[in-house]
Amino acid sequence: MSDIQRLVRDNIRRLKPYSCARDEYRGSRGIFLDANENSFGSVLDVGLNRYPDPHQLELKARIAAIRGTTPERVFLGNGSDEVIDLLIRVLCEPQRDKVMILPPTYGMYRVAADVNDVPVVETPLTAGFQLDLDKIFAQTEDVKLLFICSPNNPSGNLIREKDISTVLDNFDGVVVLDEAYMDFAPGQSWLPRLNQYRQLVIMQTFSKAWGLAGVRLGMAFADPEIIELLTKIKYPYNVSGSTQQLTLEALSYPDKKEEMVRRILAERKRLITELKGLTIVRTVYPSDANFLLVKFRDARQVFEYLREKQIVVRDRSTVIRCDNCLRITVGKPKENMTLIKTLEKFSGEHAETSEK
Ligand SMILES: *Cc1c(COP(=O)(O)O)cnc(C)c1O
Repeated sequence: MSDIQRLVRDNIRRLKPYSCARDEYRGSRGIFLDANENSFGSVLDVGLNRYPDPHQLELKARIAAIRGTTPERVFLGNGSDEVIDLLIRVLCEPQRDKVMILPPTYGMYRVAADVNDVPVVETPLTAGFQLDLDKIFAQTEDVKLLFICSPNNPSGNLIREKDISTVLDNFDGVVVLDEAYMDFAPGQSWLPRLNQYRQLVIMQTFSKAWGLAGVRLGMAFADPEIIELLTKIKYPYNVSGSTQQLTLEALSYPDKKEEMVRRILAERKRLITELKGLTIVRTVYPSDANFLLVKFRDARQVFEYLREKQIVVRDRSTVIRCDNCLRITVGKPKENMTLIKTLEKFSGEHAETSEK
């Protein structure tokens, strides 16, 4: 049995997957009377009366080519969130096998583990939001899956590559590297190194830099053996026809994405300067993403004030290492200006509490 197969739950290894109508016949020509679709068409003129390709062959081929990998190393899901859930279900026997997360980090890792009744081991990041390697390695017993988010949400920073290497070289479970924000970072994706690590899963998404959060498409890149396992247990038509169509179209406009990233980065820089000038702001943490983690004198008060003015930010103040912190997405120039003006107004109205 391979290293990967050893990590897989017995019931999943034994599982005979559902075979859907479109598994039996590949090709787009023919008279299709196999899937009980509406042969007459649909109420909308959008060409969606047929079930979509369960294997997303065209889309995977395009993504693989662009990313410099092969389609057997690509899995597509209903957002990265589906990938997170599937990985846990493939590897973790409920109530026994564990997932390790490194808070403060993305909330879905824990939620997905909790839903599956899989115990979670938390190893907080250091005060500088980097990996605490000694503590990680002290707690890996029964851990099948370890989530590293880089750039990390909500702290915004890249995780040091050397530390990620150390984890990959010494941990024998599966390491998920969530690169949702990599487009905004000065660092490089780990994708070119994928073939060196059989137990590495890299997640990326169309929800952030590509601006397609509403389309729901997440990607996972991994060894074909891991991709096969995910494919085995996914819902047959997990990526809708409209998602496949729209994403294929979007992939023709990589320059548009790059241009938006450039504008977001310019705005991020400006926003950092403006925020640092406010007396109510204590720290603006360095960011490699499209958001900023900002420590205030009293985050809760600021949060409520902003909400009254219909400016919605994310309150992270109850999260470990993030006390009095709000997470603020970089908006459009006008939105950011309104945000700063509003914070200045708050500062003026709360002059007594904002004295340093
Ligand atoms: C936004 C985000 C994602 C994207 O999730 P989707 O389900 O693909 O929209 C993944 N990971 C992190 C850390 C995120 O912040």
